[in-house]
Amino acid sequence: MSSAHDGQLFINGEWRRGGGTAFQSHDSADNRVVWDGRSATTSDVIDAVARARDGQSRWRHLGIDERIGFLRRFCDLVTERKEVLAETISSETGKPLWEARTEVGALVGKLEPSIHAAAARSSTLTFGQPSGAATTTFVPLGVVAVIGPFNFPMHMPNVHIMPALLAGNAVAFKPSDQAPLSAQRYVECWQAAGLPNGVMNLIQGGADVGEALVGNPDVAGVFFTGSRPVGEMLGRQLVNSGKMVALEMGGTSPLVVWDANQARNAVYVAVQSCFVTSGQRCSSARRLIVRNNDFGHAFIEMFVKTASSLRVGRYSDRPEPFMGPLVSSKAVAKVLEWQNALERAGAKVLLRARLLEDGTALISPGIIDITSLANRRHDEVLGPIVTVTMVNTESQAFAEAENTDYGLAAGIVTTDRDVFRRFASKVSAGVVSWNSPLTGNSAWAAFGGIKASGNYRPTGYLSVDYCVRAVGAAESREPTIPTTLPPGFEL
Ligand code: NAD
Repeated sequence: MSSAHDGQLFINGEWRRGGGTAFQSHDSADNRVVWDGRSATTSDVIDAVARARDGQSRWRHLGIDERIGFLRRFCDLVTERKEVLAETISSETGKPLWEARTEVGALVGKLEPSIHAAAARSSTLTFGQPSGAATTTFVPLGVVAVIGPFNFPMHMPNVHIMPALLAGNAVAFKPSDQAPLSAQRYVECWQAAGLPNGVMNLIQGGADVGEALVGNPDVAGVFFTGSRPVGEMLGRQLVNSGKMVALEMGGTSPLVVWDANQARNAVYVAVQSCFVTSGQRCSSARRLIVRNNDFGHAFIEMFVKTASSLRVGRYSDRPEPFMGPLVSSKAVAKVLEWQNALERAGAKVLLRARLLEDGTALISPGIIDITSLANRRHDEVLGPIVTVTMVNTESQAFAEAENTDYGLAAGIVTTDRDVFRRFASKVSAGVVSWNSPLTGNSAWAAFGGIKASGNYRPTGYLSVDYCVRAVGAAESREPTIPTTLPPGFEL
């Protein structure tokens, strides 16, 4: 699908060229340029927010059913354009096509949960009172800024955008500067769905454009998905701004492997948790905590063997790979440096992560046993590398799971429901999995972290809650005087 325009910014229903810094994105398979443009200038950002404000003043007054109609048309177009969208995601992120298709599917999968959840926030809660009624209504915030990450360049922005639009907000979307074409293709679907002018705006660029956007006084909500350092900085910067701030950040999520009917079932859950998307998911398991018994040793042996045979390659390779390259060579260097640092500290490499081809970001999975290290707490390193800690008791396992600053996802493999229940009640995480990959989350459940992973504003089914603000009211048809006036008050 070639574009019928040569603009890169979408403001007030029109494509225009950016006037800021030039930047490009490249195809992960052959390094050819797939997007070449300029970022938004400060005045583009100001204009986008102003146009969004105009658009929102009309959009909010459409009925919810009319707004749902636009979302349904968008989903039909996404389905029609599925292959082009998937190929775009693959080219910019390196994700294999089979996986990019699941990302496109997730755009459509967000529709029904969003409509279902919006119902509870588009009607008025009314409770009869002696003097009339106590009501709560929900109103849109206004213009919301959506800041996206590189790893799900369509799906992650969409988890904010769909509920925000349904609730009557207008959007100014600043995608990752590592995946500008994915964002453009995504916004083209909204344009083709006939969204009124100003309701959806796309401003491309890096941190400076993001800063100009979130600092704009007419932006009422900031919905950020990205790394901890940027999210924490935004949290500090916006704490007294009066804006609604939803922060979705990273994690060093634990997967406890306690027992299973067969080791291979546990290996399946672990491989999907650690290595899908080459370990570049926010909820990827980065710490395996394994029971130190015969089952645990059999599991480790099979896990290492399976990981070493995972097919790693370009999205254009046939047969298709399980894992694609990382987003950049810089990301590969970070993984390899961390592996070296752990090894120098005394950890035992069970499977060495290796750069597979010079000049690419193709890297093989790594597994490293850190049981002997005194300090097993680490920061998020986005890539196909996982640590292993062997434990003897349940309380050791649970304490190890909690040995992190983050609180996004946590999981356990066990056939004992009571062990799972005890784990779920003790672990500080926003998403808890039982015998399921940490990386497979449903749009029908809340999804969001605590501690360094988020600020108690989960997306998933609950996104709608940060897309509106509640207005409580005491209502009475006419002013009346109570039979008894307060002491000292005569009328
Ligand atoms: P990043 O923090 O580098 O960038 C995210 C976005 O923030 C980009 O659009 C970037 O341009 C923008 N940005 C950077 N500096 C900014 C500033 N000063 N002001 C405003 N915007 C700014 O993250 P990334 O590398 O693109 O994405 C990977 C990270 O995202 C990982 O940490 C991953 O765990 C996390 N993530 C979290 C979730 C979740 O739902 N919790 C989902 C996907 C990814």
